[in-house]
Amino acid sequence: MMTGAEHVRWDLRDLYPDETALQQDLAQGLAQAEAFYARYHSKIASLDAEALAEALRQYEAILDRLGRAYTYAYLNWATQTEDPACGALLQQVREAYAQATKHLLFLELEWAQLEAERAQELLAAEVLRPFRHYLELQQRLRPHLLSEPEEKILAEKRVTGRDAWVRFFDELLGAMRFSLDGQLLTEQEVLAKLYDPDREVRRQAALALTEGLKTRLRELTYVFNIVLADKAAEDRLRGYRSWIESRNLANEVSDEMVEALIQAVTERYELVARFYELKRRLLGYAELYDYDRYAPIGQASTRYSWEEARQLVQSAYDAFHPRLGRIVAEFFERRWIDAALVPGKRSGAFSHGAVPSAHPYILLNYTGTIRDVQTLAHELGHGVHQYLSRKQGVLQADTPLTMAETASVFGEMLVFERLMAAETDAANRLAMLMGKIDDTIATVFRQVAMNRFEDRIHVARRTQGELPPEAFCAYWMETQQAMFQGSVTLGEHYRYWWSYIPHFVHTPGYVYAYAFGELLVLALFARYREEGDTFAERYLALLEAGGSDWPHVLVGRLGVDLKDTTFWHQGLTAIEALIEQAEALAEQVLGSTNAQAA
Ligand SMILES: [Zn+2]
Repeated sequence: MMTGAEHVRWDLRDLYPDETALQQDLAQGLAQAEAFYARYHSKIASLDAEALAEALRQYEAILDRLGRAYTYAYLNWATQTEDPACGALLQQVREAYAQATKHLLFLELEWAQLEAERAQELLAAEVLRPFRHYLELQQRLRPHLLSEPEEKILAEKRVTGRDAWVRFFDELLGAMRFSLDGQLLTEQEVLAKLYDPDREVRRQAALALTEGLKTRLRELTYVFNIVLADKAAEDRLRGYRSWIESRNLANEVSDEMVEALIQAVTERYELVARFYELKRRLLGYAELYDYDRYAPIGQASTRYSWEEARQLVQSAYDAFHPRLGRIVAEFFERRWIDAALVPGKRSGAFSHGAVPSAHPYILLNYTGTIRDVQTLAHELGHGVHQYLSRKQGVLQADTPLTMAETASVFGEMLVFERLMAAETDAANRLAMLMGKIDDTIATVFRQVAMNRFEDRIHVARRTQGELPPEAFCAYWMETQQAMFQGSVTLGEHYRYWWSYIPHFVHTPGYVYAYAFGELLVLALFARYREEGDTFAERYLALLEAGGSDWPHVLVGRLGVDLKDTTFWHQGLTAIEALIEQAEALAEQVLGSTNAQAA
């Protein structure tokens, strides 16, 4: 279907008029990095506030220059991945960037090693205010840093240690084939079958996934045990008190805040049960099995042309705050979006923040579905956030993971409300709403249940030693059952489904950040409904602040206390309201089908 997005291509000339300009800039960036090293290496501790601020300004300018070259090469490649020249340019810039980074690394290390008292003195200086949070964060790591030779050894041995096992895990799963209906499927293919409308296909896919995993259970369990033991050892060496502490530090949240989040979510597991009970009724099943969780409910059939999507999204942002509406308009008018479907283009969607001296760019593959409209809203949320936080400079523009999805999910909510208001067909409305709740349940509850599983295995490995496969299976079933509360029957085959989840192996502790971000937005959105325009003004200030302060300080300005479980309950209440709305719509839809049948 033609959507009108066929000719929507971005204009990268805002970054460089041509490749010669990029090459000149890159060479200059490299030379500046070398000069920076010569001037400042092993001198950071001796700088006064004025001189440190000057060093940081130079550092920012170099990062901006190199980042601009990198952005151009990456975006240029992203729309033509099959063109070897684009690939070669990206590789060349990557290598140059790595080369330059080697000359710049010392700055953060030397600053982190500065005695706390001296650092505090410097941080109080007005001239360092634009860099304060960045500097503060580096200092936070200080108690957990080892000596330079120790750090070097750890970094070098990691490549053949934990990183090697992570790669083994990826390659093992990548090479695995799952036998279904006489066909051999990859992991991604067999997982995709869990969304099939045909129940028997889903059931067979679930069994095939388990059969495949079981053949490699020894290796998978071994990798898990290694990752757990490696983390325990490194945490001990670095003086972290719990398995999650280093992750919380990177997320810029306290253990207390994360505990408040986990407690609030686990206390509302009954919402999961209520949602799946509704899903069971809509599917017309006597019992809902684990392989029914992703069964589609109806199919929202409405299609949106590019122009319709643009109008919808732009007006939603504009109604929230005219300034956001104007920024969104710029993305369309000044060709910062690439939406066309083109052979060789990267799949999926992203908003690339580029560098503060430029502006963000958005990549989409627009086909006109309702999901695509929501993706446009999502990426524009990232886009306006990146656009507004540029003023914080390259060192403080970005937020930690816990806040990274705030603007995108908020933007999606704004547009979802419009879409719902515009859709008159009850079955379509129900399909949209069930899809939305499905996503929300996966982001909030599923991730927290997985965090509970992670907590069990990390603690058990530290207190009991190496764990047998059955221990993982038992912890998995226990933490999953707790969430479903009997609403979904988990078959025997489901015991092994912890073993393919990459987050557990790649980034221990990662998963709760999804729940954090989603609930934060739901609670902020509830606040917006109550407060209206005064909220919008303060929300804009939050976006402008980027990563210039701690998340609890930034959202604290919106009257939110992250340590307070009642705050998290506001987000959960918003999910409950969505479920109630779906239940009411279901009555309507089921009522009319029953009437037709009669
Ligand atoms: Zn996102």
